[in-house]
Amino acid sequence: MKTDIMIIGAGPAGLMAAITAGRRGKKIVVLEKNRIAGAKILASGGGRCNISNSTVSPACFNSNPEFALKVILEFTSKELQFFFEGLGVYFKEEALGRIIPATEQAGTVLDALLLECAALGVEIKCSEEAVSVKKEEDVFTVKTGREVYSSSSLVIAGGGIGYKLLGNSLKGAALAAGFGHSIVPQRPALVPLKLSGSFFHRMQGVKQEAEITVRTPAFERVYPGDLLFTSYGISGPCAMDASSLGALTGSECFINFLPGRKNAAESIAKLMKTKPQLSIASALSGRINKKGVKALLAELKVNPDATSKDVSAEEIRSICKKLSNWKIEVTGPKSFDDAMVTAGGVEVSEIDPLTMESKKTKGLYVAGELLDVDGISGGYNMQFAFSSGYVAGKSL
Ligand SMILES: Cc1cc2nc3c(=O)[nH]c(=O)nc-3n(C[C@H](O)[C@H](O)[C@H](O)COP(=O)(O)OP(=O)(O)OC[C@H]3O[C@@H](n4cnc5c(N)ncnc54)[C@H](O)[C@@H]3O)c2cc1C
Repeated sequence: MKTDIMIIGAGPAGLMAAITAGRRGKKIVVLEKNRIAGAKILASGGGRCNISNSTVSPACFNSNPEFALKVILEFTSKELQFFFEGLGVYFKEEALGRIIPATEQAGTVLDALLLECAALGVEIKCSEEAVSVKKEEDVFTVKTGREVYSSSSLVIAGGGIGYKLLGNSLKGAALAAGFGHSIVPQRPALVPLKLSGSFFHRMQGVKQEAEITVRTPAFERVYPGDLLFTSYGISGPCAMDASSLGALTGSECFINFLPGRKNAAESIAKLMKTKPQLSIASALSGRINKKGVKALLAELKVNPDATSKDVSAEEIRSICKKLSNWKIEVTGPKSFDDAMVTAGGVEVSEIDPLTMESKKTKGLYVAGELLDVDGISGGYNMQFAFSSGYVAGKSL
């Protein structure tokens, strides 16, 4: 079967590329190995589809932020929302700038994309996996188990490896590598972290506002948010955001249990002095989860019942310093099955961010999560997928 453009993957990147190019009159076939298109759109944001964020900065991306921002500048959060408004989908902003559909239903977003594809005559072939691709004499050939397709342009938008139940891409990177692209080793991101040691077992079930600092000889990054202690280590937005870099060999990770409270030690010492019957555990419980305080003080070998007559202001300062800079030993991320995003992928220096075209093979485009770009939580991964799909679609 002959067509103008073949697109591998019917996620946000592939569907947006199809619509953008389809509006310019191109004949398009999208291959989707899953039974349905856009499964990750449906699952995103707990079914509410956190599609974008009202703010963006380099800190929102763990790998290749400059590349990611160049692409997003070509199709911003406002432009994405305007695009969807044209399809009858409206959005609202939630805490931390998260943009979600006004209906709070991911299905609204996916339905709009699929209806527009149908209106433009884009053919989406579900349950059809691209198993091999090649280019000969300016023609791309894509083989599936059922059919052989040929086209003048090819977009690989196969996504990442995470959450295999929703359609992951073990082949996407291999297909791009077949055209000479370098692949940065893929690893789970936006994923819980496993810890070594025993202290976190006593913290199991504790949910706490915190900050995680990831430090390497080259950089230091701080990730704020809710942190949840589990049977294997840590989860929650704070840990998930830190996971991409925190699980890298050679990085050091620290938890701050007293975030945003620079004078915590002074105010705790003052409180304990004015209330001589108050224990150190009670004084800390106003700031740290009660069960957590108990476990942390036990780890520091501090008597939780100690009052101001037992601990000096200097000792309180030392305790708070440790609570603000608690070293954890990350043994690794949980598996790809728990990873919302994949870090690593197609090396971005081999892709033009203004067109998404490969610098190695003319007519080949790569978009979305398959690239070595991974954002923190808050809508950045979806925005990057849509933006890169748009950029590819307008260049095809
Ligand atoms: C549970 C969950 C919740 C999430 N929530 C959010 C959120 O709220 N906000 C946010 O920004 N991000 C979220 N993400 C991440 C976001 O969904 C992804 O970053 C985004 O979907 C990536 O888009 P994509 O088009 O690049 O890839 P995908 O959405 O993964 O789409 C790629 C498609 O290609 C198909 N495919 C792969 N290989 C082949 C092949 N060889 N042949 C044919 N088809 C193929 C796959 O089946 C898949 O459907 C979430 C992810 C998960 C798993």
